[in-house]
Amino acid sequence: MMKTIILRKGKEESLRRYHPWIFSGAVHHTEGNDPLEEGDIVEVLSSDGRFLAIGHWQIGSIAVRVLTFKRQRIDQAFWRRRIAAALEVRRSIGVVGKEGNDTCRLVHGEGDNLPGLVIDIYGSTAVMQAHSVGMHVCRHELAEALREVFGEKLKAVYYKSESTLPFKAQLGQENGFLWGESSDDIAYENGLAFHIDWLKGQKTGFFIDQRDNRALVERYAHGRRVLNMFCYTGGFSVYAMRGGAELVHSVDSSAKAVELVDANVEYNFPGDNRHAAFAEDAFRYMEQMQEEYNLIILDPPAFAKHKDALHNALRGYTKLNAKAFEKIQPGGILFTFSCSQAVDKEHFRTAVFTAAAMARRKVRILHQLHQPADHPVNIYHPEGEYLKGLVLYVE
Ligand code: SAH
Repeated sequence: MMKTIILRKGKEESLRRYHPWIFSGAVHHTEGNDPLEEGDIVEVLSSDGRFLAIGHWQIGSIAVRVLTFKRQRIDQAFWRRRIAAALEVRRSIGVVGKEGNDTCRLVHGEGDNLPGLVIDIYGSTAVMQAHSVGMHVCRHELAEALREVFGEKLKAVYYKSESTLPFKAQLGQENGFLWGESSDDIAYENGLAFHIDWLKGQKTGFFIDQRDNRALVERYAHGRRVLNMFCYTGGFSVYAMRGGAELVHSVDSSAKAVELVDANVEYNFPGDNRHAAFAEDAFRYMEQMQEEYNLIILDPPAFAKHKDALHNALRGYTKLNAKAFEKIQPGGILFTFSCSQAVDKEHFRTAVFTAAAMARRKVRILHQLHQPADHPVNIYHPEGEYLKGLVLYVE
């Protein structure tokens, strides 16, 4: 018998609105012969015994991540259907099958009705990341489902959850291939090539979520002097090069990242001396820089990992952007981003506008940016919206 969770009276309301999380405070008691174990699949009932949902149970403030609001078996076929549905969405919006592209986010957690799971596709390799114990427990079934859905096209599934699973669950998880092995490590995006370090790189190895925003940088790069701050593997730099920038400077505090950006620029534009990369702290670099840039990209790591860090995060964004406003040349274009989920659009705007005022610059909004379509937001789970950006014209 499936283990069962009974909610407190009135706590079924958010589930009726298809919100995919059940907080621990909503749980009245559990039923079943065996004690609950983290990662268990549980059935959720209302206080008067009506079926509500099935999901993964975990210790923590989110007690259940809902997999389905219908009574059904959670087996290999279930995962296969969900993965096939995710692929179908990417096909229908033209992310998969587009010339010059073999890279996309296939599964974006709640946005694909698979809370706790991220899968990115790089050519013939899938990189899978579990954020919940339940998805970790199901990893082999998921890998098998990927094989079934993709067939010959997929050569390997790499599992990379060492740093994303709850530390307290003590799963002792190590990164590694669930099946297959990757023969190459190049991913193509809009006809540009990127080395992807899924073994050691950040996240799943690459920031697919900036694809459309990078293409916009390309549009504005012509003849400009570009500074790509927090460059990581240099996505924005390579697009700026193709867009005809006069020079491109990439900065990241990680020496490893600077090696990667150099390799990626060299791979796409061999011998092109418009580019240089520097391993330095962003604030220090901007403080001391002599170069007169007129296109600056600020794509820092999440300053707020949690809601309680919000205040400091906003100060961080203000300080960073103020420095950029202070230094950017008249007629310059600033691309500025926040990927902190805890910082919403309004907060971020306020931080950036405050920065502009501090630097006493006149600023216009050219674009308001966000995550791309292969990172969909479940409308019943607006928390899934995390990436926001502004493109600003600075007089
Ligand atoms: N723009 C990148 C992704 C940026 S991820 C892309 O499109 O792929 C954030 C990067 O910021 C990481 O590579 C990290 O090494 C770097 N970083 C973190 N703190 C930094 C600091 N204080 N100064 C410079 N870089 C920093």
